[in-house]
Formats: sequence, C-alpha cells, structure tokens
Amino acid sequence: MLDYIIVGAGLSGIAVAEHLISRGKKIMVFDDNSQASSTVAGGIYNPVILKRFTLAWNADEQLDTALSFYKYLEEKLNISLIKDLPIYRRFHSVEEQNDWFAAMDKPALSKFLDEKLVSNLNKHIPSSFSFGHVKHTGVINTELLLEAYRDFLHSINAYQKEEFQYSELKITEEDCTYKKWKTKKIIFCDGFGLKKNPFFNYLPLQGNKGEYLIIKAEDLKLEVAFKASIFIIPLGNNLYKIGATYNNWDKTKVPTSEGKKYLMDKLEGFLTCKFEVVDQVAGIRPATNDRKPLVGKHPKLDKLYVCNGFGSRGVLIAPTVASQLINYIEDSVALSEEINIRRYEKLYQADLS
Ligand SMILES: Cc1cc2nc3c(=O)[nH]c(=O)nc-3n(C[C@H](O)[C@H](O)[C@H](O)COP(=O)(O)OP(=O)(O)OC[C@H]3O[C@@H](n4cnc5c(N)ncnc54)[C@H](O)[C@@H]3O)c2cc1C
Repeated sequence: MLDYIIVGAGLSGIAVAEHLISRGKKIMVFDDNSQASSTVAGGIYNPVILKRFTLAWNADEQLDTALSFYKYLEEKLNISLIKDLPIYRRFHSVEEQNDWFAAMDKPALSKFLDEKLVSNLNKHIPSSFSFGHVKHTGVINTELLLEAYRDFLHSINAYQKEEFQYSELKITEEDCTYKKWKTKKIIFCDGFGLKKNPFFNYLPLQGNKGEYLIIKAEDLKLEVAFKASIFIIPLGNNLYKIGATYNNWDKTKVPTSEGKKYLMDKLEGFLTCKFEVVDQVAGIRPATNDRKPLVGKHPKLDKLYVCNGFGSRGVLIAPTVASQLINYIEDSVALSEEINIRRYEKLYQADLS
C-alpha cells in the first residue's frame, strides 16, 4: 500500500514528492514526458515583474523558500543547480527610467532594484537608454534537476516512466487502485496534461506555449541575463537561450517556424554580433486566468488532489505551494483561498449539470 501516487515529475511533482519523502511517506511517481514546461524553462527566479516594475505574487517569501529548497536538493543529489545571475533590464524611454526610480521607493521593491543604472552593458547590445539591474536573481538548471531527481526516485523504486491512464483508476471508500498499485491518495501534478484529466479538467487552466532559441554567439561574451522585449540567458560555452514567446493558441509542444522568426526578428533588432541558431525548444506553461496556482482537494473525491497552475513562475512558486498542499493534507493547515481550487467550485457544479 502506497501513501501517495503522484502524476507528473515536473517542478510541481518534484516539490510535492520531496516534501512527502521528507515526511517518510511511501510514494510512486508517474511521468510519460508528455509535457515539457519544466524541462525547457529558462529556469529564472526573479521576484520582479519586469514589464511594470512590480513585485510578483508573494515572490519575496517564495524566494527564500525556493533557494533553501534547491540548495537542499543540490546537496541531496550532489549536483549544482543554482547560479546567481543578475538581470539587466533595458529601458525604452526616459519615462520607464523614471518608473524604475518610483518603484525603488516602494519598500517591497527597494531591495531588488539597484539605484545605479548602467549605461553600457555590452558592446554588441547598443542602447540609447540605460539598463536597470535587478538584484537577488538567478537561474535553476531545471533540466538537470528533473533528470537527477527522476534518477533518485528510480533508485528508491518510486518512479514509473509511463503514462498514467486516468480511466484505469478505481476509487473506493477505503483507497484507490491503479493497475497493480494501491494508494491512499493521489496528487495530480500533470501541468498542461490536466486538460486530459477527467477529475480536474473543469479547472480553468489556459496553457500558454513558450519557445526558446538556443544560439551560439562567439563574440557576445555576456555573463549576465539581459531583458528587453525578450531575454538573453547565458548558458556558458558561448551558448545563449533567447526568448521566450507567449502563444495562447497553439497547444502543442512542437517548436515552430513562426516562433523562430519572431525571436530572430527581435534579436536582430538589437544584437549587433554574429550568431547561429543551434537548437529550438518549446513547452506549454500551465497558466491560469487569475495568475494564481490551482491547489487543493477534489470537490467530491476526497482522495484526489491537484497542484498546478504555476504559469511562468514555477521555479519560485513550486517549493512553497507544494509544501502548503502537503501541510493541508497531512496536518489540516488551511490553504489560502487565493490558491485553493474551491474558488472554482461553481465550474465543477456547472460541469456536472
Ligand atoms: C519556454 C518556457 C520558459 C519558461 N521559463 C521559466 C523561467 O525562466 N522561470 C520560471 O519560474 N518558470 C518558467 N517557465 C514556467 C515553468 O516552466 C512552469 O511554471 C513549470 O514548469 C510548471 O511545472 P509543472 O510541474 O506544473 O508542469 P510540467 O513541467 O508541465 O510538468 C508536468 C509533468 O506531468 C507529466 N504528465 C502529464 N500528464 C501525465 C500523464 N497522464 N501521465 C504521466 N505523466 C504525465 C508531464 O510529462 C510533465 O513532466 C517557463 C515555461 C516555458 C514553456
């Protein structure tokens, strides 16, 4: 008898699994690689919304929890995951520059926005305006994290690399049976795969496709992250991630020629050195209308739970929200209403009628 089955081993499933393992729970995690959001993510943690210079939802609190969580995993898995990486935001006008200083006066933002502006960031990124430096930012190597954590789960016989077939799940008063496994509870961390999940697909998960180009640019020599209309994220060895796109229509994880053209046009708009495209990746962000996660217990089936809806900020959100879900299930600590799926109970009722 398992304590939990977890469906999905992306950022959400990994955080949920780790919180359960640290409580001594017996788990089995399923993943079939049908979604790729966590694998292709830029991995950036940045508490500031760079469009408006505001603080992202609960980002300050999430930052500390996320960094200690990934640090703990670095030690546990014996890998290097966290890289401090300052972000430089290019201003497009004097007004934007003024907005930066106005934001700096707000107590919540002052520790993240540097008052010293930079006028020349890199000779291959010329600009008529300055660059603002966001502090306490960095990247998590999500691809390495997923690979290493799945290997770890495999080593403790807690990983199945296969599709979880929702129709095979049998739920009784006492427990749940899925094929040869019996479990007390199931937590769905299936990202945009939730659309095929008959138990939770009443939830308003939107899905937003994102694509990145990986380029090689020998002369660029950029060691910080740069943000204008798109990001340049240095990967080392003269490789850079360029992106990402935001697309609400296409729900496939296949890279597109439109995505490539969009990113090339943007890049050629400001980069003056030569580069070649060496790869292109895509995934679907599990985005929600109200930009808040979708977390909690099924309205009727009290053995089923969901941990989803991290949008474009899974790196920061996952460790905190997964821990809130486990505290809710195991210790009856109330979930905050803003993340609790109870806010969508009317949609469930409507689905039934
Ligand atoms: C291009 C791009 C760039 C991004 N950049 C950043 C960034 O810089 N910083 C940041 O914080 N966030 C970023 N994000 C967002 C971040 O990737 C997501 O918030 C996060 O990955 C969501 O994690 P998840 O585990 O909920 O979903 P997913 O990563 O989609 O994981 C869900 C998992 O469930 C599995 N699954 C689904 N259905 C089934 C099934 N039936 N059976 C078995 N397995 C199943 C899938 O294979 C998948 O592995 C980016 C996203 C994209 C697409």
